[in-house]
Amino acid sequence: MGSKPAKKKKIVIAIDGPAGSGKSTISKIMAKRLKVLYVDTGAMYRALTLKAMREKLDLEDEPALVRLARFAKIDLVEGSSLKVFLDGEDVSDRIRTSEVTGKVKYIARVSGVRKEMVRLQRAIGRKTSAVLEGRDIGTVVFPDADYKFYLDADLKERAKRRHKELIEMGHDSNVNSVKEDIMVRDESDMQRDVGALKQAKDAIFVDTTHLTIDEVVEKMMSYIK
Ligand code: C5P
Repeated sequence: MGSKPAKKKKIVIAIDGPAGSGKSTISKIMAKRLKVLYVDTGAMYRALTLKAMREKLDLEDEPALVRLARFAKIDLVEGSSLKVFLDGEDVSDRIRTSEVTGKVKYIARVSGVRKEMVRLQRAIGRKTSAVLEGRDIGTVVFPDADYKFYLDADLKERAKRRHKELIEMGHDSNVNSVKEDIMVRDESDMQRDVGALKQAKDAIFVDTTHLTIDEVVEKMMSYIK
């Protein structure tokens, strides 16, 4: 009788940082390399924002937003690209419009909404190995993650990357308004009372401004045993 193959240890990797820091691109590549699940937590907040807009909710009505978060069915499905489903509908493209981007802050600042999102994200990371990217993964969702990274880059570079991404997705974009949008989002992501964007004390800081995607990936992978 042969011995059982050694069970691979489950790992959770937390990647946080501001918009355009390279998180999504890098997280996807790392998840693929490590053969683990990729979880885009920003997509969850975006999907919820889309639902609130469609239901014409008052974005200042916190109890209504919390109810919405409890009953919304948000699924992230991995294929050749990550698909985001809201109540069974593929909303992967719709959640990237500037209208949704501009309104996410009203949803993301509500404590009860964040509680629901954190609960869902923890359930995923407890079940399976994953790379989770967002704003509060290393600080709130998985403070005990196996590896924590905090990515950042100069504002000008981040705006350039986001602009390019939006154009590639077929959206209208203007680099100056993207820069403006990033500044506003950074501000509200960093200043909110709950789940604010900040570097966890034990996170590895990576400045991606002058690095290629491959260089960032190699640097981060070098920490992973
Ligand atoms: O990552 P992405 O830019 O798609 O996220 C959209 C917005 O969702 C962020 O600006 C932030 O307000 C919110 N978010 C959050 N917590 C996370 C991920 C995203 O509040 N973990």
